[in-house]
Amino acid sequence: MALISLTDVVKKYAAGKQEVTALDGISFDIGARKLTIVLGPSGSGKSTALNMLGGMDTPTSGTVRVTGKEVSRFSDKELTAYRRDQVGFVFQHYNLIPNLTAAENVGIGAQYAKDAMTPSQALESVGLSGRERSFPSELSGGQMQRVAIARAIAKRPQLLLCDEPTGALDSGTGRSVIELLRSIADTTETAVVVVTHNASIAQIGDATVTLHDGQVQAHVENQTPKSVEEIDW
Ligand code: ADP
Repeated sequence: MALISLTDVVKKYAAGKQEVTALDGISFDIGARKLTIVLGPSGSGKSTALNMLGGMDTPTSGTVRVTGKEVSRFSDKELTAYRRDQVGFVFQHYNLIPNLTAAENVGIGAQYAKDAMTPSQALESVGLSGRERSFPSELSGGQMQRVAIARAIAKRPQLLLCDEPTGALDSGTGRSVIELLRSIADTTETAVVVVTHNASIAQIGDATVTLHDGQVQAHVENQTPKSVEEIDW
């Protein structure tokens, strides 16, 4: 069974007197333990789709189901619990708190979650053992993104949503971050969704959803994902 199903999801925003249709009836499934890549040019609806998956926004019509439960009908209280317990979020610019250490930043992500990893465990799982006491300013961009990933996965979320996670990184560092996200999908129960405009990244995913003008232009399952070393960046 799919972990997540979007069915005919429409999202319209009021922009002054006009209405903008950010999502125009999208449907696709996301499997547990899969790496799903959402591709598309700027303005195609990627961030809006990610916000629907993460319970940060609700559809104008259509349904978002997670393990059979209809997130799109959750009350505010249920949405808060869903975001807190089941969703990890990784941003392009890391969004770490500059005056907190790596361990403290990671601790924030899991402070209300049951059965969370300790900050040290989470940092170890992203290859940053021993950096608990480092401040963001003492870390490279790739290391900061690893701290942000540790913060997102410490609560062992069902769903890890990543919005352009390599957008601010050079190609070598970006590759190693994508490799880490691939290994999270392979070795944990978490479904990983990566939004990007870099089509090369799609080759290492288990599935690619391509959006265009708020619609699903293509949805391709990839039986033989490539390794990160095999792709051009
Ligand atoms: P992408 O992430 O692919 O760049 P978005 O999901 O951010 O695309 O945006 C899709 C469309 O919806 C764009 O035309 C954008 O301007 C519009 N949009 C997104 N969020 C809002 C909002 N809060 N209010 C009005 N329009 C919005």
